[in-house]
Amino acid sequence: MAERLRLTITHLYPELMNVYGDRGNILALARRCEWRGIEVREEAATLGDRLNPGALDLVFFGGGQDREQEVVAPDLQVTKAEALREAAEAGVTMLLVCGGYQLLGKFFRTHTGTEIPGVGVLDAWTIAGPRRLIGNVVVRCDWDPQRRTLVGFENHSGQTFLGPACQPLGSVLVGGGNNGTDGQEGAIYRNVFGCYLHGSLLPKNPWFADELLRRALARRYGPEVTLAPLDDRLEVQAHDAVARRARQLRRVRSGAW
Ligand code: GLN
Repeated sequence: MAERLRLTITHLYPELMNVYGDRGNILALARRCEWRGIEVREEAATLGDRLNPGALDLVFFGGGQDREQEVVAPDLQVTKAEALREAAEAGVTMLLVCGGYQLLGKFFRTHTGTEIPGVGVLDAWTIAGPRRLIGNVVVRCDWDPQRRTLVGFENHSGQTFLGPACQPLGSVLVGGGNNGTDGQEGAIYRNVFGCYLHGSLLPKNPWFADELLRRALARRYGPEVTLAPLDDRLEVQAHDAVARRARQLRRVRSGAW
């Protein structure tokens, strides 16, 4: 009989960093595994918990406000930063949203001028900006051979800028993205994906959920791992509905209607 695939999903600071349904990402990943007979173990790593980089498969870090980020950041440095850097270099898959994305960059300078040090997995830095970027976002992933899109909801005042060691997750079709100016959203380094997309993101973007699962499983079981197709009609409808609404709103706002 074929070996039963197993996957551990590690949720960083779930009680502190979880806004706009970010936990839905874990539910979507776990459900898509369950439907395929893949055994999932979900573990939380919060204040004081250390990480074993060799045991990580897929790491999720959600969003939070500056206040929560200031609570989490010192702990992150002491108990998890080194393990996360080691894991990222070893190809562990990570999904980081908003506040979590900012903290895996080099630093986040808040409105009060406090500079919160980041983990430095991503060659990216964030500076609090004068206005909040709020609303639906549609992003085209140019690294994807099919150049598929992601939809999500952003709400951040931090403006993120990318250095040369990471590439953007996508080009912004609708919304603000990383900083509202350069047309880029999110960051990718190896199998680490950072973004500003809440929503939750993965239930409405099933192809991306599977991309993360495939990368995580391939690392443990080899590149020939394939994921059985699922009936994603509802998920695709949800994606398309958000994309349509976002495009209409943009047209209304820009006076094209
Ligand atoms: N504090 C960050 C900002 O506003 C993150 C917000 C979030 O995670 N939603 O830029």
